[in-house]
Amino acid sequence: MDASTAPGIHIERLTKTFTTRRREVVALDGVGISSGEGEFVSLLGPSGCGKSTILRILAGLEEPTSGVVLVHGETPAEMRGRHHLGIAFQDSALLPWRSVRTNVRLPLEIGKGAADEDLVQELIDLVGLSGFENARPDQLSGGMRQRVAIARALVVRPRVLLLDEPFGALDDMTRQNLNGELLRIWTERPATTLMVTHSIAEAVFLSDTVVVMSARPGRVREVVTIDLPRPRPPELARTPEFHAYVDRLSAILFGEAVYAGGPG
Ligand code: ADP
Ligand code: MG
Repeated sequence: MDASTAPGIHIERLTKTFTTRRREVVALDGVGISSGEGEFVSLLGPSGCGKSTILRILAGLEEPTSGVVLVHGETPAEMRGRHHLGIAFQDSALLPWRSVRTNVRLPLEIGKGAADEDLVQELIDLVGLSGFENARPDQLSGGMRQRVAIARALVVRPRVLLLDEPFGALDDMTRQNLNGELLRIWTERPATTLMVTHSIAEAVFLSDTVVVMSARPGRVREVVTIDLPRPRPPELARTPEFHAYVDRLSAILFGEAVYAGGPG
């Protein structure tokens, strides 16, 4: 690893151009993101600015057009080979013929090592699906399916966690509960994490660093360090310090004018 390589996520001058039949789309233009090992980084930005593309490149599902992408000094392909990558994307993509339990267990069957049934059950309990172990995806609500996907992402005890709007489909109450739970698990078993979210409050609550992106072509607009102490209890979300971060990120995302002008 080069001395200047970030020990967590290291993305440098990342560019991605999609070439379709009719035109070229520059999705990412010179994106740089660095984090420490075990840090929680969130990506905020308007729809279509390339957030999912960054995650898909990190996961090895998409090739960069140019640039450097490393996690813990490894390329996405190397990282995948080690089975320490936990992924939960927006479309939870569960296997429809499998039960909740066997969907959660799936990555352990693909990877090496024996399935840890205690861990599988612990994660099912954790995401609030106790009693639904034998249900199939078509018997669950969208929110419940997404919780299965989160349990499945965590079952490999990931060193690297990629989350693409994992709670996007859930109602506010469930979302807040799962944020608290995710924070607890993440504190117990730290993983270098990159999460895409639309919720500014969620980003502040969970992150060490929030990266705000600009509209297409996606570029990093601003990087905000969330200097709030850990552990972070739910009450933290009601403090002035918390709200100051939410306001600041809103101003960056939606433009100062909206806030400077005030009501009317
Ligand atoms: P976000 O997750 O921030 O909403 P995406 O990363 O999904 O944005 O997409 C960024 C841009 O790249 C969008 O304009 C999208 O239409 C385009 N794009 C994404 N994937 C492809 C693809 N496979 N082929 C062509 N264009 C794509
Ligand atoms: Mg997306």
